[in-house]
Amino acid sequence: MQEQEHIRLLRHAVQLAHDNRLRGGRPFGALLAREGQILSTGVNEIVQSHDPSAHAEMQALRAGTRAQANPSLAGCTIYASGHPCPMCLAALVMAGAEQVFFAFDNADAQPYGLSSEGAYQRLRMPLQPPPLPLTRLDTGITAAQLYGNVPWA
Ligand SMILES: [Zn+2]
Repeated sequence: MQEQEHIRLLRHAVQLAHDNRLRGGRPFGALLAREGQILSTGVNEIVQSHDPSAHAEMQALRAGTRAQANPSLAGCTIYASGHPCPMCLAALVMAGAEQVFFAFDNADAQPYGLSSEGAYQRLRMPLQPPPLPLTRLDTGITAAQLYGNVPWA
């Protein structure tokens, strides 16, 4: 798949994150795709649901595996607005996801109190090397637009 197509899907995940923030949720969105076809989407719903596992990637994973009536994510790519936290990364690896693309890393998220780097450290999980291909792409949207108060174009 062309990089432009990955960027288009990743921008969709960032838009989901932005929309969720406007609704009072945390600014995280994700979508699950297979060969460029969207299987499911998810947003962080921990505030609304009081479920600490309701991260965007987990929500997309649950919706996607339910939709296909199969718990395997073989051949699936996840597009996540933020670098996956250890819980989400573990779930994606256990379900056999192929690869992850993300827009913002922990350094982007740290000034807004949204980094999961501390959890990686407590779990003694190194960020490098990642357990599956984990690629950051530039969507043309800045962290300050998603997490901060810079207007959304
Ligand atoms: Zn997570």
